[in-house]
Amino acid sequence: MLHAMYAREIVDETFRLKALGLTDKAIATQCGVSIQAVRHWRYGNRRSPEKEAARTRYCPRCSGASINGEAYSYLLGAYLGDGHITEGRRGVHALWIFYDNRYPQLIAYCRAAMEAVFPLGVFMVKRNGCTAIKAVSKHWLCVFPQHGPGKKHDRTIALEPWQQAIVDKHSEALIRGFIHSDGCRVTNRIRKRLPDGGEKWYEYPRYHFTNVSTDIIGIFTAALDRLGIAWTIHANRRPPHQDALTVSISTKAAVARMDSFVGPKY
Ligand SMILES: [Zn+2]
Repeated sequence: MLHAMYAREIVDETFRLKALGLTDKAIATQCGVSIQAVRHWRYGNRRSPEKEAARTRYCPRCSGASINGEAYSYLLGAYLGDGHITEGRRGVHALWIFYDNRYPQLIAYCRAAMEAVFPLGVFMVKRNGCTAIKAVSKHWLCVFPQHGPGKKHDRTIALEPWQQAIVDKHSEALIRGFIHSDGCRVTNRIRKRLPDGGEKWYEYPRYHFTNVSTDIIGIFTAALDRLGIAWTIHANRRPPHQDALTVSISTKAAVARMDSFVGPKY
C-alpha cells in the first residue's frame, strides 16, 4: 500500500542511489521518504537478512544475555494469567496477550515489556474490541518453558529455579502482570443506615484474581506472601467461572499496598 503513495520516479531513484552505494538512511533523506518505505520497496514484505538473523538468534537464555527482570516478571504474570503461545512455521512461536481496547495504558505497558525481552518481532493485532500484543521468536519456549499442549490448568505449572530467582526479585511486576491480564480492582459500595434515619454509602476497593489452575493461583499467592500482602481465597459458584478460584485482597492495608504498584486498569 505504502509504495502506491509515491511516484514511480522516486522509487526508481531510491534503487539508483542504492546502486551508487548510499545507505538506506541517506537515500530516505535525499528522496524525502521514510526509511521504512525505502526498505519496503527493496525487500518487499521480506525482512532484511540482518534483521531476520538478529530476530531468530537472539535469546536471553541461549545467548546468555541478561534478561530484563522486571519486564520478564510482568510478562510471565500476564502469560500465566491469560496469555498463550502458538506454534508457527520453522520453529517460530508467537506469544499472544490480549487486552481490551478500553485499556490503552496496559497495551502500551505490555508492548514495552515484550520489546524489553525480545527487541524485534513485536506486533499489535486488533480484533473485536481487543488488541493482541503479539511477539514472534524461536525462543519463547526457552523463556516460558511452561508452554505445553492443552490448557494450562490441565498440566503442572511449576517455575524453573532461574525463573523463581527472577520473580523473587520482581514480585511486584509479577503481580502487576497477573492483575492486568486476569484480575481486576473493583469497588464494593455498602449502604449503612444512620441513627437519624438517613443513610451513608461506604466504598471498599478490593482486588480480585481468578484462575482455574491451582498452580497458577499458588504462584500468585506466593508473590503476595513475599510482599506481606494479606489475601483470602474462595471457590466460584457462578458460570462461566464455576471451576475457578478467586483470590481477594481486601484489607485496607493490603489494598493500599497493591494500589502503590498496580492501581486501576486504564
Ligand atoms: Zn533460546
